[in-house]
Amino acid sequence: MAGILFLISAPSGSGKSTLVNQLRSLVKNLEFSVSWTTRPPRGSEQEAREYHFITREHFQQMIDAGEFLEYADVFGNYYGTARNSLTSAFSKGKDLLLDIDVQGAAQVRAKMPDAVNIFLMPPSPEILATRLRNRSRAEGSVQEEVIARRLARARQEIENYREYGYILVNDVLDRAVEEMAAIVAAERIARSGGPASPQDRELLAIAERCRQQNSEARIQPVLQAFGVTKPGTNEK
Ligand code: ADP
Ligand code: 5GP
Repeated sequence: MAGILFLISAPSGSGKSTLVNQLRSLVKNLEFSVSWTTRPPRGSEQEAREYHFITREHFQQMIDAGEFLEYADVFGNYYGTARNSLTSAFSKGKDLLLDIDVQGAAQVRAKMPDAVNIFLMPPSPEILATRLRNRSRAEGSVQEEVIARRLARARQEIENYREYGYILVNDVLDRAVEEMAAIVAAERIARSGGPASPQDRELLAIAERCRQQNSEARIQPVLQAFGVTKPGTNEK
């Protein structure tokens, strides 16, 4: 049986890498795809751990050779997922998690409609700005224009939340990690077709609360704070 493909998207600085790192030690048989990018390494990032860092020329060669499942230009740099990430994980009987932006997620959804889509939101623009500043400070330089650009893009990305099956708000990190782990478990349980144990039912219930259709009340304050209008209305 082919593995399950999980996609997670979030505005930069929401805490996606932090969440995904915690998930690594919690969830078995889930591989984390290492993307290719033309952006330079940041802080303590290492080649082949966070990304494969390559030149634009190399990236273009990979595009021309059809090596990407998807790729996108984010903040002026290319980012892409190699097709062989999927084949490698699935051939080992593992599930795969892709951390990709909203453009890349749309490309993957069009090709792989069974993918499980998760969108992670920061609680508010103020908290997002604080997280972006803290991260930049830890990495040695805070550039306000970079923070402003990321905040503006965050709003545009959040407008796409309806494309995602599950929505998480990264307020308390431990809770977001628990919810993410429950979503992975619930999708596995649902596809296994077997009877659910009492522990399974608990995980299914947590995941169910994170489904987009069950998240309106939880995410309304976030949408409002970012000034995101509901589709088809002028309501904020
Ligand atoms: P992303 O991968 O989404 O760009 P990071 O994982 O780098 O974001 O997180 C951005 C900053 O926010 C980091 O300094 C991280 O330690 C911090 N952070 C992440 N999640 C939380 C949280 N729930 N509460 C407080 N700070 C957080
Ligand atoms: P960062 O530079 O902060 O690591 O990532 C910037 C953005 O690029 C994030 O939204 C992240 O999800 C996205 N990203 C990372 N890898 C990929 C990828 O392989 N494809 C696409 N489309 N986006 C990616």
